[in-house]
Amino acid sequence: MTKFKSVIKSLLGITLSIIFLITMPLMVYAADPYLSYGCQYGDITVKPYSSLYNSTWVTILDNGRGAWNSSSANVSISTSSSSNNTLEAANYSDTWYGLNTQTYNTTTGYTTKFVIKVNARTISNDATNFSNFAKSTVAHEFGHSFWLCDNPSTTSSSLMKHSRDRNTMTTPQTFDINNVNAKY
Ligand SMILES: [Zn+2]
Repeated sequence: MTKFKSVIKSLLGITLSIIFLITMPLMVYAADPYLSYGCQYGDITVKPYSSLYNSTWVTILDNGRGAWNSSSANVSISTSSSSNNTLEAANYSDTWYGLNTQTYNTTTGYTTKFVIKVNARTISNDATNFSNFAKSTVAHEFGHSFWLCDNPSTTSSSLMKHSRDRNTMTTPQTFDINNVNAKY
């Protein structure tokens, strides 16, 4: 490497370091088992969905909320027509079972809106116990709204692990509840 190139390279390194030091304090740091964003308060709402789906899906979405509401986590998920947040079930061509897209403040990490999508197509294809599998998916996606990241590095049982058996694990586990309660 010529001396000129090495000077440019070191200047670039210094510049990137300065940018990092400037932006770092502005961002909420993501550290396993957490995302860098999530709802500010544990009491959250979603828009009512009972008129949008058949009774099978309404029950599944209710059960996904109920998994958190009946747990010892300091959270509640109710419906409100003024909510920014939606819970949607459809046949998506994507490979995922569920998806939670959150819009958040990059300074505070607080979510201002989330959209949870549940994929009836992939769940129907892969489930042994359809209602459990779907409930597990919905409850998992709500875990993201409560800051929980995917695949936490732990040997403990967790609703957030992709390796969990969705046919049987449908509720937040002790590890998940403890992590949520450390936030709220
Ligand atoms: Zn996930």
